Amino acid sequence: MKFYSENWFEATSKFAHRAMDVGVFSAYKTPDMQYEITCVTIGSGDNKIVINSGVHGIEGYFGSAAQNMFLANMVSKISEPALDKFSIVLIHVINGWGMQNRMREVFDKKNGGLIDLNRNFGIDFSKPEQLPINPKYAIAHPVLLSTPDKIIKKEAIKKFRQEHLKDGVWAAISHGQYYEPYGLFYGGCERLPENVATMRIYDDIMGKNAKSLISIGLHTGLGRFYRKKADVTSSLLVSHPETHKNTLFFKEKLAPNVPITPDNNAISGPTLLGDLVDCLENRYKSRNIPVYTADFEIGTGEFPIMSPVYKRMDMGDARYDLLHYGKINNETWANLTESWYPSDVRWKNAALRRVEILFNDIIYYMNSISK
Ligand SMILES: [Zn+2]
Repeated sequence: MKFYSENWFEATSKFAHRAMDVGVFSAYKTPDMQYEITCVTIGSGDNKIVINSGVHGIEGYFGSAAQNMFLANMVSKISEPALDKFSIVLIHVINGWGMQNRMREVFDKKNGGLIDLNRNFGIDFSKPEQLPINPKYAIAHPVLLSTPDKIIKKEAIKKFRQEHLKDGVWAAISHGQYYEPYGLFYGGCERLPENVATMRIYDDIMGKNAKSLISIGLHTGLGRFYRKKADVTSSLLVSHPETHKNTLFFKEKLAPNVPITPDNNAISGPTLLGDLVDCLENRYKSRNIPVYTADFEIGTGEFPIMSPVYKRMDMGDARYDLLHYGKINNETWANLTESWYPSDVRWKNAALRRVEILFNDIIYYMNSISK
């Protein structure tokens, strides 16, 4: 539990102290940002491995704790030859505002609305009329943003989910949209400062000579928390079908210890709009080097029950409240937090055990090909 923090300042100071002990520490600020993004680089090789955390503030301090655990317990397992061949970079809490305010998104002070940073990457905002469209989201928006009501609204969303599980409308809610600032998974109308800073960090990591990039984001909220067994699911989400070379790479290096989940719908392109992983793959495409990206997801289970319905309802209610009253109802906020970052100590410990398996596999890979 010592790796977990209660707020952004505590998390960042823990990270900075440990980072300075084992690597080269740096901090990135953008002019209008109150929070800085901190990083540590360990090793000096041209093959880059990046682990980032905190894109979504509602997911709490799991990613930060995982990185602190890595710095405290795992850096010593990396061999000298591996430190020559690889640089491993930890990017700590990309969305500082969201983390401190326990919101998934970044509040857009200038234009209003809540922007999901992971729908803001790699989007060309210069031509508003050419922004990506997600017409299926529009079908779900009215019910999601309807007046909060635990019985009527819950039943309406439950019914909507049953009706639209097969036609892709339910799934499309999370794919990203660019026209409804208080809608769910809104990607914004310009690049967020956190996006600009993150790209600057990655460009600095890649320099001119990078020979490869493996980038993994740490997230929570997809999958199960088995309260009685005190265990959680973990899964590496790859935004490509199972036969894609990137999926095969992760399978070969990390499975079966780390379950790999491909996206078989991403045949002609990524399913999510504006996500970091696909943005990175596009950004370094012209270099003709291997670029492998994924998100590591820790399950948070069924809280309270029927989590898919509750999660979407709570997200819609939070937006309704912000739009109409300027603040989120305490109960909605508590439900959201618990859905993405359970307060249960057993969850926190189980989540670290799962990510330790991922880190051990990465170190094993680094060491074994650096002999
Ligand atoms: Zn997330």
